[in-house]
Amino acid sequence: MSPKMRKILLHICCAPCLTYTLKKLRNNKFKVEGYFYNPNIHGFLEYKKRLIYLLKYSKKVKLPLSVSREDYDNGLRKYFEFIGDHKDDRCPICYWIRLEETAKLAKKKKIKFFSTTLLISPYQDQELLKKIGGSIAKKYKLKFYYDDFKKGYRESRRMAKKEGLYMQKYCGCIFSEFEKYERCGVKAKR
Ligand code: SF4
Repeated sequence: MSPKMRKILLHICCAPCLTYTLKKLRNNKFKVEGYFYNPNIHGFLEYKKRLIYLLKYSKKVKLPLSVSREDYDNGLRKYFEFIGDHKDDRCPICYWIRLEETAKLAKKKKIKFFSTTLLISPYQDQELLKKIGGSIAKKYKLKFYYDDFKKGYRESRRMAKKEGLYMQKYCGCIFSEFEKYERCGVKAKR
């Protein structure tokens, strides 16, 4: 690693969001390691699909990747315990859970910076992510790296398409799946 390079642990929600974010971080002289921790993802096959494509893509771009050792069942239970009655204002909790786990791993690995691919999404609350990342950084005496990755959102979709990556149809949790398909007017066939 050149002396000017800084290490960063990047929380990754999915392979398409990683594409541009990784390129940008590497251009900014970061030595990136990835972490897949997303207990919010419903259901199991969706979770597996997102993870499998990420594993493939990480290998291709030579990204060291840690995957949460917590199994799907335990992760999901924990997610619902945290969310509790906050079904309608669940996103800040969901951000917190994932970023805090990332910070804990960064601490363990002695990596000073951490960030998240969620910062590329125009569908996520960027200001809130920045605020939560900052609070967690303070708690663990780390640095949360914020960048307006959103500028590269379209490019990330192009890159993902070119690589043949799986693009999910909803954010992750069961509520987001319902909201997506309910909006589309999906009706059960009888
Ligand atoms: S909508 Fe997305 S960010 Fe919000 S709780 Fe669900 S999975 Fe998490």
